[in-house]
Amino acid sequence: MPGPPSILIDRFGRRVDYVRLSVTDRCDFRCVYCMAEEMTFVPKAQVLTLEEHFQLAQAFTGLGVGKIRLTGGEPLIRNDVLSLVKRLGQLPALHQLVLTTNGSQLQRMALKLRQYGVKRINISLDSLQPRRFRQLTRHGNLDQVLAGIETATAAGFERIRLNAVILKGRNEDEVLDLVDFAFRKGIDIAFIEEMPLGRIVEHDRALSFCSSEELRTLIAGRYRMHPLGDPDADAGPARYFSLPGSTTRVGFISPHSHNFCHLCNRVRVTAEGRLLLCLGNEHSVDLRAVLRSPGYTPDLLKRTIVAAMAIKPERHHFSNEGEAEIVRFMNTTGG
Ligand code: SAM
Ligand code: SF4
Repeated sequence: MPGPPSILIDRFGRRVDYVRLSVTDRCDFRCVYCMAEEMTFVPKAQVLTLEEHFQLAQAFTGLGVGKIRLTGGEPLIRNDVLSLVKRLGQLPALHQLVLTTNGSQLQRMALKLRQYGVKRINISLDSLQPRRFRQLTRHGNLDQVLAGIETATAAGFERIRLNAVILKGRNEDEVLDLVDFAFRKGIDIAFIEEMPLGRIVEHDRALSFCSSEELRTLIAGRYRMHPLGDPDADAGPARYFSLPGSTTRVGFISPHSHNFCHLCNRVRVTAEGRLLLCLGNEHSVDLRAVLRSPGYTPDLLKRTIVAAMAIKPERHHFSNEGEAEIVRFMNTTGG
């Protein structure tokens, strides 16, 4: 029998070369737009082992995937995650190992992450006010995260990007402060429109929604912003603007107002090993069942992944009606 194809292409002709691996659904924060206050997490036995995550990474890179993002929950609270990072950093076909974190562990881990081959990191930061930061994250400590950002900026990553979710009535008055902060540090910042993932009770998503367009207009009142062209595979769904006189780029991720599905080059794997073909749909394939089956071989895993491309949906159907259309929370998929 011929081997599986060596690259991943879906039925709409989109090449998939980017995978986001969620290494845990757990988190030390409970951000109001991401999680409920009381969460039930996946029992540990159902979460992939670090070895299984590595096997997945080997299969994907063997299928032409050159970029892997580790995410969560909070990836840096996964026990011994650095050992996985170190092994991933040594995969020859992996050109871009990147990470998204809430920053709480960066003070002690940033240097090792860089040393083990992480090229870029995204750090979530929604407020620069300690009390408000605590309210938005429910458990977070702003000083700890700011110290983590400081360590990360000194660690020599190729790029650091702050991620901010802006909610009307909660932190919309901090948009310019957050841009000023990124500007001073010479790092990027992206504003992400809130997505209807998981049922939350603390705010009505429709009322709190801030569109990228509103934010862009606000920022343009202070900074000259130069558009950097349409999103591409490298930028992902973010539309970036440069700020003249600095290396800082301001990005907008707008699943509501700009549909970027035609450019989609990514799939996600949940902490339990469910391959999700689209953030905004439930189409998935259970890769853990393959990894733990008596007949497991690396080739079988690759064939399963190739076959899954046939069910990658054409587009998501997010609206800003406020209702969660997707019942899973963002911490299961890692954004
Ligand atoms: N814990 C890490 C962090 O906070 O960066 C990684 C996982 S978190 C789910 C990844 C990103 O998703 C964060 O930047 C977070 O702000 C964003 N996010 C979470 N829930 C969201 C939602 N409902 N809509 C839009 N972005 C969301
Ligand atoms: Fe945790 Fe990240 Fe979700 Fe906040 S956004 S609760 S830090 S997973």
